[in-house]
Amino acid sequence: MATRSMHLADAVPSEGPRRLRNFVDGRFVDGGSPFDIRDPATGRVHAVAYEADRAIVDAAVTAARKAVAGDWGRMPLARRRALLCRVADRIEERFDDFLEAEIADTGKPHALAHHLDIPRGAANFRVFADAIANLSTETFEMDTPDGGTALNYAVRKPLGVVGVISPWNLPLLLMTWKVAPAMACGNAVIVKPSEETPSTTTLLGEVMAEVGMPDGAFNVVHGFGPDSAGEFLTSHPGIRAITFTGETRTGSAIMKAAAPTVKALSFELGGKNAAIVFADADMDAAVAGLARAAFLNTGQVCLAPERIYVERPVFAAFVAGLKAKAEALKPGLPHDDGVDLGPLISDEHRRKVLDYYSLAVEEGATVVTGGGVPRLSGEAANGYFVQPTIWTGLPHGARTCREEIFGPCCAVIPFDTEEEAIAFANDTEYGLASSIWTQNLSRAHRVGKAMEVGISWVNCWFLRDLRTPFGGAKMSGIGREGGEHSIDFYSEPTNICIKL
Ligand code: NAD
Repeated sequence: MATRSMHLADAVPSEGPRRLRNFVDGRFVDGGSPFDIRDPATGRVHAVAYEADRAIVDAAVTAARKAVAGDWGRMPLARRRALLCRVADRIEERFDDFLEAEIADTGKPHALAHHLDIPRGAANFRVFADAIANLSTETFEMDTPDGGTALNYAVRKPLGVVGVISPWNLPLLLMTWKVAPAMACGNAVIVKPSEETPSTTTLLGEVMAEVGMPDGAFNVVHGFGPDSAGEFLTSHPGIRAITFTGETRTGSAIMKAAAPTVKALSFELGGKNAAIVFADADMDAAVAGLARAAFLNTGQVCLAPERIYVERPVFAAFVAGLKAKAEALKPGLPHDDGVDLGPLISDEHRRKVLDYYSLAVEEGATVVTGGGVPRLSGEAANGYFVQPTIWTGLPHGARTCREEIFGPCCAVIPFDTEEEAIAFANDTEYGLASSIWTQNLSRAHRVGKAMEVGISWVNCWFLRDLRTPFGGAKMSGIGREGGEHSIDFYSEPTNICIKL
């Protein structure tokens, strides 16, 4: 196995920027236009990826179709599951390669990638190898007009070729969350990772070859969205489904591109999530929990609360507590001691976040803390850092309170009644997640259920059981993934009706 990886290993750091080629039909292929990948903690180019043209995407689709019709599609379930578990093992064996690649692409603190991104990348393969083994299919016996009976039962079949389009904020975690169930169901996949963070997806190509995955079952095409690899995939007639995580407006563009070929779509999109803190909450837990929620991964988590509604009697205490937590965060290079705040993903994204920091002030915010760029020395001085920022005094209708910013910032707003808090929280076009803090059990159930979201946390945030339904309401998504919900999306049930 190791011998096979050697000629593929140009995604592993050597001298100069790493070369990240497209992975098609079980091997890395030449071709495509080079583009730079920057380390956002320093602004330095650390890798070069090759944008797939139409010919490379076509070759990936051809290879994937061949895999579904051939070795991969015919593989017995037990062998398919064993291979997926072997992928998980191999990610763990090459943990440090994945860790360094993820850190180089995102600039995120070493501890965060170490305990979240890479372990979850491996876990996704095991979870869905198990999920596919433990599913039953439905059976119905029916009466027939001639007085006899018929038996109906469903069998699950793969969809065929699935296009996976993933974002940059949790690159390995979110990509494998879709690749693992799609492959567990017997589909071949073509992944287009974010143009900002292509390294760990490329490494996964190496791992697939190392574990002996049949050629064409897993492919990677690099590039951008419109008029590039993303659009070539979403409009390709040889692809049956697109599973996408990213911005809502990108989801809308993908829907249009996929419409003429009527592809199945699963969308995990943007959010403007609310948290609600009631006066009876355990205040230390609420402050610590929501500081983590607002600032983890520099606020670049789709589930992060950018609006925090706090019952008026505890408003001042909560704001003071959150301010202390924000000011204790240490920005810097991923490997430096004590660093727990990384950069934003790019200079462009930093400009967007800083524009919102200015807009908040124009809209009447009091800046409790932050609002600008931290002073850093050495290499980090060129990184895309911003200060964690808390606002009060914003009117509920302010753009800062309605539009997804995707940075380490939140507006804290007082409320007086439970009804008012629910109305504030739901007054948004998005519906991804909420986080409610209270010690009143009845209220926890009532308010949790009243949230117009896909996931409602109580006294916690980002606690994920991978068997549960995950997705967004309203403009935050279409469909649910997780456990058997993923299997439902990535497979086609066929009903067999037998006259007995
Ligand atoms: P994005 O929409 O800009 O890009 C996501 C992916 O789509 C990238 O690979 C990009 O190249 C590709 N793409 C862009 N335009 C395309 C097009 N026209 N056709 C095909 N592909 C196209 O998102 P991003 O900036 O990478 O990620 C941040 C966004 O993702 C935020 O809105 C965040 O809330 C959302 N997100 C949602 C979830 C969730 O589970 N709901 C999870 C993480 C991130």
